[in-house]
Amino acid sequence: MKCIGVLTSGGDAPGMNAAIRAVVRTGLDNGIRVMGIQRGYSGLINGELFEMDRRSVADTIQRGGTILRTARSKEFKTKEGRKKAVNILKAFGIDGLVVIGGDGSFRGASELAKQDICTIGIPGTIDNDLTYTDYTIGFDTAINTVLDAINKIRDTSTSHGRVSIIEVMGRNCGDIALYAGLAGGAESIIVPEKNYDLNELCKTILEGKIRGKRHNLILLAEGVGGADELAKKVQEITSIDTRATILGHIQRGGSPTCMDRVLASQMGYRAVELLFEGKTSRAIGIKFGKIIDEDIEEALNMPRNFNEKLYQIAMALSY
Ligand code: ADP
Repeated sequence: MKCIGVLTSGGDAPGMNAAIRAVVRTGLDNGIRVMGIQRGYSGLINGELFEMDRRSVADTIQRGGTILRTARSKEFKTKEGRKKAVNILKAFGIDGLVVIGGDGSFRGASELAKQDICTIGIPGTIDNDLTYTDYTIGFDTAINTVLDAINKIRDTSTSHGRVSIIEVMGRNCGDIALYAGLAGGAESIIVPEKNYDLNELCKTILEGKIRGKRHNLILLAEGVGGADELAKKVQEITSIDTRATILGHIQRGGSPTCMDRVLASQMGYRAVELLFEGKTSRAIGIKFGKIIDEDIEEALNMPRNFNEKLYQIAMALSY
């Protein structure tokens, strides 16, 4: 192993920079060259590569987003596009590649591994939607951003005696709603993994009001439906003033939390170690506090595993 490449792909997540920093500095410490690839697979196909040194990643551990920038590439999904990518990697003498991104990026990484490019995946996505790992980089920062918003919305919700519906990210995975909802003391948490009944929801709101609850917070994962629409229906049925807040992209940005920085640093370090061990097509994760690695294809094929127990606890405590 003489030269490795690193790229970030798909949706950005806080902590990606800490992972890039770890890959770059671990590589350099082991006497190899490290090439930064800009704008994900799109930049790879276009040859947007530059050599990185220790200074390239100075002053980045605290920054959200990704210094390598990110993109989505339709061309890379084609055989011809991937051939171009492989040719570029070979032309630059890159023998190992670290891909930081979500499940789509991992599918791309797996395709490259099939073309004899040693490839390692690091999970960078705020959604926490990869089953093989307990946490993905960016999730902790995102839930803390949501929690901060919940605390603020709770103040106004309590003052006015309103129902507040807070829509958070998560198309197929309700983890952001679940964790932030539990930590924020939400009365209801609506996630794609669980069916919900509008009449039951309204009954819970009205019962809460009778018991003296002055606010009512509902965390809604975007995959279930829109907050505006739900707010209208809830207000119609309960006659309680109901407001919707869609948090949107503020959940993606911001300085990564300590946990995300530590996780990203460990994962970046391990990615380079794995390349030195001659491993390929591995996805790095964390299970029960330990850094692990799993075959990328197997990692992608694991069925979603919703934390039912945590949901039950959140519901029991919100009563
Ligand atoms: P994320 O990595 O955050 O899930 P995307 O799903 O948009 O984001 O994937 C990022 C990029 O990975 C895509 O733009 C595409 O270039 C590549 N990709 C996604 N799926 C595949 C696939 N099945 N085969 C090859 N490349 C893929």
